[in-house]
Amino acid sequence: MMGLSGIEIYKLLPQTNCGDCGVPTCLAFAMKLAAGQAELAKCPHVSEESKQKLETASAPPILPVTIGKFKTGGETVLFRHEKTFVSPTGIAVLVTDKMSDAEVDKRLTNFKELRYERVGLILKADLIAVKSESGDAGTFEKLVAKVKDAASDGGLILMSDKAEVLGAGIKVAGDQKPLLYAATKNNAEAVAALAKENKCPVAVKGENLDEVIELTQKLSGMGLREIIIDSGSRKFRKVFEDQVILRRAAIKKAFRPLGFPTITFPCDMANDLMEETLIASTLVAKYGGIVVLSDLDGYSLFPLLVQRMNIFTDPQRPMATSQGIYPINNPDDNSPVLITTNFSLTYFIVSGEIEGSRIPTWLLVLDTEGLSVLTAWAAGKFAADAIAPFVKKSDITGKIKHRSLIIPGYAASISGELEEELPDWKITIGPREAAHIPAFLKQYKAS
Ligand code: SF4
Repeated sequence: MMGLSGIEIYKLLPQTNCGDCGVPTCLAFAMKLAAGQAELAKCPHVSEESKQKLETASAPPILPVTIGKFKTGGETVLFRHEKTFVSPTGIAVLVTDKMSDAEVDKRLTNFKELRYERVGLILKADLIAVKSESGDAGTFEKLVAKVKDAASDGGLILMSDKAEVLGAGIKVAGDQKPLLYAATKNNAEAVAALAKENKCPVAVKGENLDEVIELTQKLSGMGLREIIIDSGSRKFRKVFEDQVILRRAAIKKAFRPLGFPTITFPCDMANDLMEETLIASTLVAKYGGIVVLSDLDGYSLFPLLVQRMNIFTDPQRPMATSQGIYPINNPDDNSPVLITTNFSLTYFIVSGEIEGSRIPTWLLVLDTEGLSVLTAWAAGKFAADAIAPFVKKSDITGKIKHRSLIIPGYAASISGELEEELPDWKITIGPREAAHIPAFLKQYKAS
């Protein structure tokens, strides 16, 4: 439980040592909470007042916010290597009520179709920002109604400076819990009331950070917790600076009024989509909660998505595939058998090369705790005494007539030991690089 020591937490517990939490004493439970090894909910006797104090103290310095199915915030560190970043920057596409139907349709199609599968994940844009430029509630309502289905597996942002226009949008899409953008100095009460009534997250927009602080304090005072910050500027340099100031204030100084995720508008800061994307890529790295783009295009979106994936992957947890037998290109009982590790990238590169070769193949994937071949080999996890039991226990022998196993070139030195551990098998050393697998398979014959 962040921010409080075990003793501070202990003072807020009932101190009866009843043991209902599964730990013998309140002090031991407090220590577990402080270490993040227990949930407060496990103690049924904690008072409401203490619960609130503990929850406030344990909330992450950037509060989490949910917009439909999209989640942002919850960040706890300034630099990814300190722990991890939690919520990937949301990528939004803008549609306005001054666009033609064709322009809106094109963006909706791009939003739905520009999806990429990579290392087992679907990479895609997350949100559609619907902006009222005409200021007319009826026109806005129609546009929101047209857009809302496309955003149903992500989130919607409703944009207007008029509370009644936002209200018209909520009428048709309130059940999707859209982000209301934005509460300003002039309309804060009305927009905040709308957010409260409909349980929607709300963005504040200030001319500068001082104004933002006033607004978030005002909204927090009204009981709103799901707040997003727009620091106001549309100059890239200033926006970038604001992001860093906000994040530092929240994390280093625990300054609550700035402890919220942000929304940024590369669409208003550039002359073309490529420039927008470059700005967005900086804001993905340095602390934009959401980036709004004027359009989506595969050539610029894909690299942005991959960059985002890299930055928001937990550096402490290697991405891993499950151990098992993977049939590729419909193998039969004569098809070759390869073995590799379960590091996701290794698996996807190796399986991709095999698939591309069109040669029917069995791929065995050994659990090496997500290490790549060379690292796993060096750590003794891709060794004969790990591979042999796995091969014996897997039912690969029931699927093939031959007994030939191809090991990665980088693990060539284990082939002797492996032959001893698997006496019925012929061990062949495959290529070092996955790129050479297709050529290798073409001349290889299992025997
Ligand atoms: S359930 Fe609560 S009161 Fe009972 S021992 Fe655990 S922390 Fe203390």
